[in-house]
This record gives sequence, structure tokens and C-alpha cells, in this order.
Amino acid sequence: MKILVLNSGSSSVKYQLFDMQQEMVLAKGLVERIGLEGAVLNHQKDGEKRSFQMDIPDHSTAIKMVLDFLVDNEHGVLGNIDEINAVGHRLVHGGSEFARSVLIDSKVLETVKKLYELAPLHNPPAVKGIEACLAILPGVPQVAVFDTAFHQTMPPYAYLYGLPYELYEKYGIRRYGFHGTSHKYVAQRGAELLGRSLKELKIITCHLGNGASIAAVNGGRSVDTSMGFTPLEGLTMGTRCGIIDPAIVTFLMEKEGLDVDDLNELMNKKSGVLGISGVSSDFRDLEQKAREGHQRSQLALDVFAYDVKKYIGAYVAALGGLDLLVFTAGLGENSPEMREAVCSGLEYLGIIIDRDKNQARGKETEISTGNSKVKVFVIPTNEELMIAKDTQEIAADVI
Ligand code: ADP
Repeated sequence: MKILVLNSGSSSVKYQLFDMQQEMVLAKGLVERIGLEGAVLNHQKDGEKRSFQMDIPDHSTAIKMVLDFLVDNEHGVLGNIDEINAVGHRLVHGGSEFARSVLIDSKVLETVKKLYELAPLHNPPAVKGIEACLAILPGVPQVAVFDTAFHQTMPPYAYLYGLPYELYEKYGIRRYGFHGTSHKYVAQRGAELLGRSLKELKIITCHLGNGASIAAVNGGRSVDTSMGFTPLEGLTMGTRCGIIDPAIVTFLMEKEGLDVDDLNELMNKKSGVLGISGVSSDFRDLEQKAREGHQRSQLALDVFAYDVKKYIGAYVAALGGLDLLVFTAGLGENSPEMREAVCSGLEYLGIIIDRDKNQARGKETEISTGNSKVKVFVIPTNEELMIAKDTQEIAADVI
């Protein structure tokens, strides 16, 4: 079975074509600057990257171009477009309506559109991608995979905020959590690597990238996670503030005369480790600067590591124990320094990492010592493969 995975953003479309027999990526790429000057399609096949500048006014044109490339004599990997058996779409927000991936029909689309309010930047472009595919590939099953779905198993006491209950009923204000596809993938993979059933494990998964979140997974079900109503809550991130005292918002409105847009910009784009360091949101830059003696870069790294450590402590309590701790995403996969900073001091919880093994970057590795009660793994995330697997399973029922 061949499955196309699409991740449509406001001005971009990422794609990967999988051959599911070998779980292998046949081709992948990224269309950028859709609807803008200088639009470009970056296409990769057999490790070879090529860029093509072209006029790409909208998502429909972008997806047509991707499909043309996939069957192109020189750059393609398919003889015919009919070889694509199904398409999997990444959607950021499924609200409380979607607890798992679903086959897309008009009713699903209608529900996703009703959720626009919860994810105004993310869901509309994804729907554009879906509508383009429905028009270009009629009859090919399309599946929606939601970032929020994995966290739908959280109990009400973990997802409700201390606000009037009517606001939850009226607007759906509650914790949803994000990065669910990644948390699910690394939790499953962790169990496989341990050679144990997911059902019997208590796992904490740390997705540490520019956007960062942590999840507590009990028996394969997410029971708590650090992101909330939006992806702004939780850890201090690259440019997002994470948890702050909510009273700071009204304080700043008063003192600095900030309005809704200003505050959104401040908390989403100018805060986090960028705001603290005053230097960069990129952890590589911060680690470099800290080595050179830049104190606020070191402070930003310290704040981040301390945040992660506190969530681990909280989730050990929520889970009532811990078998496996997993690090993933850009920073989690590639920064031995950050992993060491997070784990140091957690020995009393049974988390002991091996300095040499912890030098691993970007590959599946156990980094805990032989006598560590809790196993600690680095597992590169693979959200696209997870989307392809869900799509394969759902499409198999209708093909
Ligand atoms: P996102 O998908 O949220 O943009 P990624 O998972 O791609 O994030 O992670 C990006 C982050 O990972 C960046 O801040 C980057 O600095 C960090 N990162 C990537 N490689 C390294 C590395 N070798 N050392 C430290 N940080 C790294």
C-alpha cells in the first residue's frame, strides 16, 4: 500500500510518500511560500534534494504540483497517480470531538470547520489541503490524524481548569494537549524497544523542540500533558512563555497598554528562551553562547531544564511510578547537555543516566545505566510514519 502524508500549514505543504510494505519513504518534500513571491518546491528522492522555484498561488496548485512531481519521469517514484492508495492529513486540533484518526467525509469536514475557533492558524490550511485532495484524487480515502486525539483519554480532573464550569460548556475551555502523534509514537516505540507490552508501562515522554511538551502515559493512554487549551501552556519554549501567572496578562495590559494582538505576539513570539536570553530561540545558539560565558543564555537553559524536571516530578506523582522516560524532537534527540541537566538530581526517583551513552544524537539509544530503575531512551520521533500507519489501518477497511 502506498500512502501520501500531507501536513498543510498557512503557506506551506510538507509531504511524504510511504511504501507501507517496508515502511519506507519513497519521496518527500516541502512546498514553501504558497501564495507569496518566491514560492519554492523542495523535493527529495533517494537522498537527493532538488529545489524548484515556481508560481504557486494556492494549496490546490501546490498539491497538484506535488502529485505531478511524484509521477514525473525524472524526479518521480510512481508510474501513475492511481498507485496512491490513501492520503493521511495532519490536523492540529480535533477538540473533544475526535479521540482517534478518522476517515474524512462531509460530516467530519463540517466538524473540523466548527473547530476553527480553537485553532485559527492551523486548522483552516489543513482543510484547504483536504479539499484540494478530495477534488484532485476523488475516490481515494482521506484520513484525518489529530495532534490532540491521543490526549483525549485524560480524565476530567486533569483537563479542567479552575475557571467557571460554564466557560468549559460554552467555549470548550479545557486542556486538550498537542504533539499527540509524537507522544504516541515514542511511547509505542519505547515499549517495543523494552520488549514489554505498552499496557503494563508507566511512561513519561518529553517532546523537546522549538515547541515543547511532556506527556504522562499510563498503559498506553495519555493521562496528562503540559500543553493546554492552546500550545502556549506548559514549558518555557523557544519563543512561547509557557505557564505564567495569568495576572501578568492584565498587569501588562494596564502598564504597557497592550491589546489582544500585542499580548499574543509577546507571549507566542517574543518570550520563552528567546525572551530570557535576548539572543536566540535556537538551543544550539544558546548552548554555544553559554559556553562562551553569556549568562542570560545559561539562565534560559537553566529555566528550561528546571521546567522539564518539575514536570517529570509531577508526572511521576500522577502516574504513581515510572518505568520509562523518553526524550524526543530536535533538542531531546540531539542535546546530551540538556538531557543531563534535566536528569541530574532525579536519581532518587530511580533515573540514572550514563554519561557516555548519553552522548548519542539523533538515534534510538538507551542512555540509562544498567542499575537505573527507570529506563531512559532517546527515540527520534516520526509523526509522518504514525500518520501513515493510522491512514493505512483506516483506509484498509474501505478499499
Ligand atoms: P519544531 O518542530 O518545534 O520546530 P524541532 O523538533 O525541529 O522543533 O526542534 C528544533 C529545536 O531543536 C531547535 O531549538 C534546535 O536548536 C534544537 N536542536 C536541534 N539540534 C540540536 C543540537 N544538536 N543541539 C541542541 N539543540 C538542537
